[in-house]
Amino acid sequence: MSTTQLAAEAIRWYDENARDLPWREPGIGAWPILVSEVMLQQTPVVRVLPAWRSWLTRWPAPTDLAADTPAEAIRMWGRLGYPRRALRLHECAVALVRRHGGEVPTGLTELLALPGVGEYTARAVAAFAYGQRHPVVDTNVRRLVARVVAGEPDAGPSTRPADLVATEALLPAAPARAARASAAFMELGALVCTARAPRCVDCPLAASCAWRLSGRTAPPGPTRRPQRYAGTDRQVRGRLLAVLREATGPVPRERLDLVWADDLQRSRALAGLIEDGLVEMVDDACVLAGEQPATAP
Ligand code: SF4
Repeated sequence: MSTTQLAAEAIRWYDENARDLPWREPGIGAWPILVSEVMLQQTPVVRVLPAWRSWLTRWPAPTDLAADTPAEAIRMWGRLGYPRRALRLHECAVALVRRHGGEVPTGLTELLALPGVGEYTARAVAAFAYGQRHPVVDTNVRRLVARVVAGEPDAGPSTRPADLVATEALLPAAPARAARASAAFMELGALVCTARAPRCVDCPLAASCAWRLSGRTAPPGPTRRPQRYAGTDRQVRGRLLAVLREATGPVPRERLDLVWADDLQRSRALAGLIEDGLVEMVDDACVLAGEQPATAP
């Protein structure tokens, strides 16, 4: 199967099997796509869906988010995890208003210059919002391409220039078809060519997959250990943020002391939140970033 046929097969499969996700609706716009890509980076689709809808209902355009405080962005982020993304999205909205009149730019260079927008997100927005031809390479695509092209059971731990080159070689020449192929490769990697149990019998690329043709059809086994959460600083940070999200004004340290018994770990988690710019100190109390302390009556 040539690379042209390979992309065509992937697109054909995608047209029939892609999940019906709201950020894929035609004409949804670049801002909703950008928000979805940031949310999806470290959070599963099922948890992103309600958060994405709430976020876009409240801030349908970058201008709306930029006019609000970073604290409100952190509040709306809720329990999606890795809340620095909320702060970066707010910074991104401010930059979009200042540099681009409140619009998401179309150029890769301008996209990459935005706060919180890395190589993957910039390419995803350029491809999925603007139909451009760019290799969009996430973990799932790297694994898929490693198997199909190189016959390897998995890709390396992070995206390398060679991954972009290998993926770009699979894209059709026409930009809109290339963008569709990118979406198809991502979906195939997420749903069919999974890390632990690839469903080769259902795969449209099976006839030309080097890994399958090499005879190694058994699942490659777990590639990552699930991350521990209970008892970690992440859990403590989550509890501290939960209290601050609920509060309408500065929260005294003594109140935060109640969320976790280990003084050292709690202090470390709070220091991390302050260092990350998510929390600020007001005298001996804490507030979410950019939140004005309540004034005395
Ligand atoms: S044939 Fe199997 S290993 Fe190859 S791309 Fe398809 S699902 Fe992945």
